[in-house]
Amino acid sequence: MYLHPEFEKLTRSEIEVLQLERLKKTVSRCMNTEFYRKRFAENNITPDDIRSLSDLYKIPFTTKQDLRESYPFKMSTVPLSQVVRLHSSSGTTGTPTVILHTQKDLDEWANAVARCLYMVGLRQGDIFQNSSGYGMFTGGLGFQYGAERLGMLTVPAAAGNTRRQIKFITDFGTTALHAIPSYAGRLYEVMEEMGIDPRRDTRLHTLIIGAEPHSEEQRRRIENMLGVKAYNSFGMSEMCGPGVAFECQEQNGLHIWEDYYIVEIVNPDTLEPVKEGEIGELVLTTINREAMPLLRYRTRDLTRILPGSCPCGRHHKRLDRMKGRSDDMIILKGVNIFPIQIETILMQFQELGNDYLITLTNEEANDLMTVEVELKEFSDDYHHLQALTKEIARQLKDEILVTPVVRLVSKGSLPKQEGKAIRVKDLRKTLI
Ligand code: ADP
Ligand code: ZN
Repeated sequence: MYLHPEFEKLTRSEIEVLQLERLKKTVSRCMNTEFYRKRFAENNITPDDIRSLSDLYKIPFTTKQDLRESYPFKMSTVPLSQVVRLHSSSGTTGTPTVILHTQKDLDEWANAVARCLYMVGLRQGDIFQNSSGYGMFTGGLGFQYGAERLGMLTVPAAAGNTRRQIKFITDFGTTALHAIPSYAGRLYEVMEEMGIDPRRDTRLHTLIIGAEPHSEEQRRRIENMLGVKAYNSFGMSEMCGPGVAFECQEQNGLHIWEDYYIVEIVNPDTLEPVKEGEIGELVLTTINREAMPLLRYRTRDLTRILPGSCPCGRHHKRLDRMKGRSDDMIILKGVNIFPIQIETILMQFQELGNDYLITLTNEEANDLMTVEVELKEFSDDYHHLQALTKEIARQLKDEILVTPVVRLVSKGSLPKQEGKAIRVKDLRKTLI
């Protein structure tokens, strides 16, 4: 049941002892970089001030901007000759960041991913297909090495070419697939076109879905469509990539591996810790990394720590499904809206497909939201479609407090991405 019982079975107090030991080592390693030496000096602290876990609060935050300013190698704690790989994220704003890895970092990363895959029941003998982009995107190599570490036959199918992807699934007898949630829906549509019934014609039993926000409703849809169990996987390139937090078979939140990370949830405005169980920004400190440890890194992802213990027996804290990033938040007519709230409503309508697009415009100084959503099947029952449109708009208004224009569009007509889905187009910004 446990791949690494020595870490997975730790009690809370054992986790904390290990974290303090690893935190101290990490802090002293950080002093190899001018960046952290300066940060500590500016805040009048030294590594000796970190004597307990609560002393973490003395350390200032690290931000994405800090990574950009340290591009490419300034945050390395080891000579470049010991760095064996880097991953770079272009991010949405275009300024790149780089994360560096020693061989030990890569080994530990593979261990973390292998642990996650084992936790959801995958074993040697399973055939694991990865439909992530390879290269700089960490979902490619991250899952590749993790799945190989577990001893599975691993198919590096990579992104795109959906028909080929499906041919691999059927020819190789793929039992487990990693896909971003928006792509899982696409796979099913193409299977239907090809006359393939995933339950009858494939051996798929497990899907790993992550890399982008998705609702519980979307997960259930994916499970029903493909006849699989779908597990939520959370990671980011700054924290290596996949393998940071993962659902166990209970599917009740994502265990975050606290032998690798110290987790905090802070109020994004005041930067103070939120009350237990409240939603805030996820802040992570890496405590098991050599080349480029990060102290109190502000992820900008919004979530909360779930209360209570997990029946699986692991004491590693559980994160709630991500609400989105603070910069995904839409502010419309003074109301704060997350795309995932809209998805949650849309996915409850059986008539609707999986793809939608939210467009924000500004007409005569009036902000307008248009929600286009694909129908699952063609229909020319205009009476029904009209009533459906009205009902969707009504339910959305109840949830987000503004009334959007709802447009039902035919299946396959919204633009498809090869990577993460683009759910929001804000055309208001171009007006400024
Ligand atoms: P980029 O920053 O270019 O999107 P990453 O692959 O590092 O590249 O993306 C990491 C981000 O993806 C996370 O910070 C989070 O916002 C999002 N993400 C990853 N996994 C999940 C998940 N399971 N649920 C929701 N969002 C996720
Ligand atoms: Zn669990």
